[in-house]
Amino acid sequence: MRAIRVHEFGEPGVLRLEELPEPAPVDDEVLVRVQAAGVNPVDAYVRAGAYGKLPALPYTPGSDAAGVLQDGGARVYLAGSLSGTYAEYALCRRGQVHRLPDHVSFAQGAALGVPYVTAFRALFQRAKALPGETVLVHGASGGVGLAVMQFAVAAGLMVVGTAGSDAGRDLVAAQGAASVFDHRDPLHLPAACAAVGGRGFDLIVELLANLNLGDDLTALAPRGRVVVVGSRGTVELDPRDLMNSDGAVLGMLLPNATAGDVAEAHAAIGTGLRDGSLRPVVSRELPLAEAARAHRHLMERPALGKLVLVP
Ligand code: NAP
Repeated sequence: MRAIRVHEFGEPGVLRLEELPEPAPVDDEVLVRVQAAGVNPVDAYVRAGAYGKLPALPYTPGSDAAGVLQDGGARVYLAGSLSGTYAEYALCRRGQVHRLPDHVSFAQGAALGVPYVTAFRALFQRAKALPGETVLVHGASGGVGLAVMQFAVAAGLMVVGTAGSDAGRDLVAAQGAASVFDHRDPLHLPAACAAVGGRGFDLIVELLANLNLGDDLTALAPRGRVVVVGSRGTVELDPRDLMNSDGAVLGMLLPNATAGDVAEAHAAIGTGLRDGSLRPVVSRELPLAEAARAHRHLMERPALGKLVLVP
């Protein structure tokens, strides 16, 4: 089978297409014929060697995908795999595959694992979001941000989103945001607060904390919570801003989720896919051989939902 292999950590050019033997499942393992593989920022951090836990070399990147079970042909999406998803086939534990409804495309299925489990965990397991609360999705145009928006709208929260491009803001508006702002505009946060009556936000889901966390603390409603999902560096903040709102900053990292947390998230994803409230947005599909280009796009271009690789 064709698969992307990484023999050394480094720039996107280390992602190389190679021919490998098809993996053979044993015990409770299953083999999935991959139809689309999701590209996540963590794949790029690992490829660069800039992540806490690194795989042994060589390895095949990727944890998200959708495809069909080799045994029986059922449509599934993958949240994790044993062999890596940037490949024609992925070996998985049975618990890593979940049913993909017929009306959800394989490309959409590849957008589910990391983004939607992260979104569910941030909103409901960490921040305990409640219907009627206001939420600022600070970085709403990407894979995780759009998933947060869809879960929040479905749960009856009032959602405000931000994006850095016109196309991103249009996309966020189309997901049901009450208002949308440009996070590149230095005055976007006061404007976003004004859009919710000047009270501030009950909840902020933060996708780039190193740039925004200090200012987020000034935009919280009484007893508001910031959930830090993404950060690419350090940040300066004034603790007094947090004291003023009786606020809280909550961190989250997906691997910290318990098996029960993950099962609860996939149950919610299944329900949302079936009732139509969750509709993954895929705006770019690239051939598997162009994995290096996909990683460059992911880190350099404005986000517009999900980028997937097609074997
Ligand atoms: P993505 O699809 O590449 O999206 C990145 C998002 O960040 C886009 O919405 C982008 O908006 C936004 N952004 C850019 N500049 C920003 C700014 N100044 N303020 C606020 N947002 C800004 O990536 P993703 O999959 O959604 O992941 C987002 C982040 O979460 C990444 O850092 C990722 O590593 C992290 N993450 C963490 C966990 C965890 O377990 N904690 C899990 C998944 C992801 P524009 O492009 O429109 O400017």
